[in-house]
Amino acid sequence: MTVGTVIIGAGQAGLSAAEALRKRGYAGPVTLLGDEAAPPYQRPPLSKGYLSGELPAERLWLKPEAYFDAASITLRTGVRASALDRAGRRVLTHEGEAIAYEHLILATGGAARRLSLPGADLPGVHVLRSLAEADALSDALSGARRLAIIGAGYIGLEVAASARKRGLEVSVLEAADRPMARTASPLLGGWFGALHRGYGVDLRVSTGVAAITGADRADGVRLADGERVEADLVLIAAGLVPGTQLAEAAGLDCADGILVDTHARTSDPDIFAIGDVARFDSDLYGRSIRLESVQNAIEQGRAAAAAICGAPADYDPVPWFWSDQYDRKLQIAGLIEGADAMVRRGDPELGAFALFHFQDGVLIACEAVNSAPEFMTAQRLIAARARPDPDRLRDTTVAMRAFLS
Ligand SMILES: Cc1cc2nc3c(=O)[nH]c(=O)nc-3n(C[C@H](O)[C@H](O)[C@H](O)COP(=O)(O)OP(=O)(O)OC[C@H]3O[C@@H](n4cnc5c(N)ncnc54)[C@H](O)[C@@H]3O)c2cc1C
Repeated sequence: MTVGTVIIGAGQAGLSAAEALRKRGYAGPVTLLGDEAAPPYQRPPLSKGYLSGELPAERLWLKPEAYFDAASITLRTGVRASALDRAGRRVLTHEGEAIAYEHLILATGGAARRLSLPGADLPGVHVLRSLAEADALSDALSGARRLAIIGAGYIGLEVAASARKRGLEVSVLEAADRPMARTASPLLGGWFGALHRGYGVDLRVSTGVAAITGADRADGVRLADGERVEADLVLIAAGLVPGTQLAEAAGLDCADGILVDTHARTSDPDIFAIGDVARFDSDLYGRSIRLESVQNAIEQGRAAAAAICGAPADYDPVPWFWSDQYDRKLQIAGLIEGADAMVRRGDPELGAFALFHFQDGVLIACEAVNSAPEFMTAQRLIAARARPDPDRLRDTTVAMRAFLS
């Protein structure tokens, strides 16, 4: 019997790799180490249904408790890996244990970015990545009237929608000139901005934050222009810092993520990295990318398992992502960076539309609001590097399936 595969990080990607190893008939031990108290769970509802109170905690678990024994996966929660001993092929834990591996998978995700603002460490200042942080935020929302959110990315906006559902007054403060500026097109960002304002959110763009105010707990935010926004609690929603510490300390190649090849293998051939923490070369987009999505966590986990089982296959996905805000479902296929032309299908005024983005005539991304057929068709067209006719795409009398034939 070998010492098997050890996976650090019992999140979406780590679980996917463990499950895929077993599905492929991997016979060695599989150990899944997680530093959180909870078993593997879904993070997307933490800013959506779980925070708004519509989804109970039991619905967060990715697997029933009995699954791990049945699949011979040793799940160890509350165990933090503190160092890698690559020469000895061992993982050292915070508790002083050494766990031997034949193959190691790093699925460490990342932590919510904190800002070095005055007042950022005050009680009443929250971030949101983990279940424990969601519970702390949710408890605080229960006793609060006003919430200030720094950052209008997906998580900031989803929390804004959930908090409005719970009856809070919400301010969202964004330094860029529109919401979701890093990942979405100006038209889509502007549309979601108007949606939030329509639901009563005080959304301010091009707004710098100078400090979080308060003597012994947060009581507001001071803006760069000196104005103060009052709040009973503050959420910093400023993105993710990938969890590369173990890899960096062990000398693995890292650059805003752990660098991996298309089989999820790091610069050490016995060590893999998957999910939010991994950066890989995308042939489809011609550059290195690091994706923060459930789809990537699942599929890259499977890619690592395939390589460990001796059946490596190139991982070059069409990225996709979704976000729920109020009753709008946003689905994004592909990446819009580099787009030089856009076609709109449907009417934003009616709340259902899709934006198709092209680069040199090739479809590279689609942002779809309440438009599932457009999203699903675009996934396939992007994968095929297709050049759909923009005029026909614009024409809603042409069914989406016509573009696949
Ligand atoms: C609030 C929120 C909403 C989201 N909404 C969406 C959405 O709508 N759609 C979508 O596609 N994606 C969404 N995402 C992103 C998605 O959840 C992530 O892409 C996905 O969880 C990544 O999986 P992962 O396994 O790489 O990382 P994680 O799920 O973060 O798992 C990593 C795990 O490793 C653990 N860990 C780290 N270091 C160690 C260590 N040294 N020892 C032991 N354990 C360690 C961490 O504690 C964590 O449990 C959302 C994320 C958040 C936070």
